[in-house]
Amino acid sequence: MLTRGAAVRRLLCIVSPRENASMLEIRNLTKIYDDGTVALKNVSFTVPDGEFLVIIGLSGSGKSTLLRCINRLIDPTEGQILWNGVDLAQLEGEELRKVRRQIGMIFQHFNLVKRSSVLTNVLTGRLGYLPTWRSLTGRFPPEDIQRAWQALERLGIADQAHKRADELSGGQQQRVGIARALMQDPKMILADEPVASLDPVLAHSILQRLESLNREDGITVLCSLHYLDLVQRYATRVIGLRQGELVYEGSREDIRQMTDAQFKEIYGEEAERIGAGGGITGSIEEHSARGGAA
Ligand code: ADP
Ligand code: MG
Repeated sequence: MLTRGAAVRRLLCIVSPRENASMLEIRNLTKIYDDGTVALKNVSFTVPDGEFLVIIGLSGSGKSTLLRCINRLIDPTEGQILWNGVDLAQLEGEELRKVRRQIGMIFQHFNLVKRSSVLTNVLTGRLGYLPTWRSLTGRFPPEDIQRAWQALERLGIADQAHKRADELSGGQQQRVGIARALMQDPKMILADEPVASLDPVLAHSILQRLESLNREDGITVLCSLHYLDLVQRYATRVIGLRQGELVYEGSREDIRQMTDAQFKEIYGEEAERIGAGGGITGSIEEHSARGGAA
């Protein structure tokens, strides 16, 4: 006969097979740039696996610095970045390379190699898995090429594979960026203002792709976003930064109930609704029906 507590624990085990669900834990993270700019001040928060965490904050509040510290594109000055118990802030060399390939990165301006083909751009997502000699030859194993095609299919741009990256529309380029990140077989994706260069309809189409990776593949997403509508629609949790400090943490419910006034309090007057000013608010389907290219 199980006690009630034991029964509940057993049930919890069934629901969540890993007893200690893995997560990202940022502890007292501080970044001071060489010129003395304090971009992050003692920032601490936790991201359980499977979250779609949105980071909000004014331009200059430290969002990019935070995302770049997490995958060590820049080195934090102080603090810990614990991912499944390993402090990423301390890793170097091969260990860092191994962890970093599990973290996909998506950029506002896509960061594609403009003159290379879409397929080649996607394949570069695999470089972290290849020995250095192989990456220097620029030749990829057949299984990687197959994987690239699958990623392109999934993102709906297989028909663009042989075009030069800069021949694609912005929305398509960002899909290439996501396909490239997928090649890493990532456990976590960091997206730094991934839709800031796109119109609102394309913004939804890109965020829906990220949402599908989050929900269907269980990839944790950390994403900075600008518009309250998008934050409310996609975030499962939100953190707010102001001048490098963490000033807000909210759950999915908190965010859904957030008024424009509260959003502005965290975000400042730059806060906007995506539909503001008569912008496009229609659905993706409507957009396609109008013949829009994604
Ligand atoms: P956000 O992404 O929220 O706009 P950033 O992380 O880019 O903010 O910047 C945070 C602060 O750090 C800003 O004051 C910015 O000017 C400064 N900063 C960013 N990169 C550097 C750098 N390489 N050197 C010095 N200061 C920087
Ligand atoms: Mg930024």
